[in-house]
Amino acid sequence: MKKQKLFAPWRVAYVKKVREGDNECIFCEKPEEDNDEENLILKRGDHNFIILNKYPYNPGHAMVVPYRHESNYSKLEKEEVLEKHELLSKFLEAAKEVFDPDGFNIGINLGRTAGAGIDDHVHTHIVPRWEGDNNFMPVISNTRVISQSIESSYNELKKEIEDKKL
Ligand SMILES: [Zn+2]
Repeated sequence: MKKQKLFAPWRVAYVKKVREGDNECIFCEKPEEDNDEENLILKRGDHNFIILNKYPYNPGHAMVVPYRHESNYSKLEKEEVLEKHELLSKFLEAAKEVFDPDGFNIGINLGRTAGAGIDDHVHTHIVPRWEGDNNFMPVISNTRVISQSIESSYNELKKEIEDKKL
């Protein structure tokens, strides 16, 4: 059987932008702004925050990110890692409820070669998966539709987290 590759055309512009980029780090900037809804920050902990990916591989693609600008995963403090796990677990519960996916990918890309768009600030990806979504992905190439669905994903997840006091 021929394996199909996950195709996410909107990521091309994003990766390009990051590579050409100035030295700004969005993972440092976004939490500093007092604009969580527009910045898609779903929840803040003491050491980490949950943010939806503006350029998702799938609906509900989120990241758990420490506030501290750290590129080396091994240098994360124990309390940062513990809280990261807690936030990740909470997000999983909320996402199961909201999206009813068939599974999840959870992962960290360390270094550009490993696929990190931003490689100097460690972040953990959570991507809901559906049976057959590899085939479905190329169909969603309209970025306007995607950004609308991100807003509704944000609102639904936020409501779930607040209602259940996750
Ligand atoms: Zn940073």
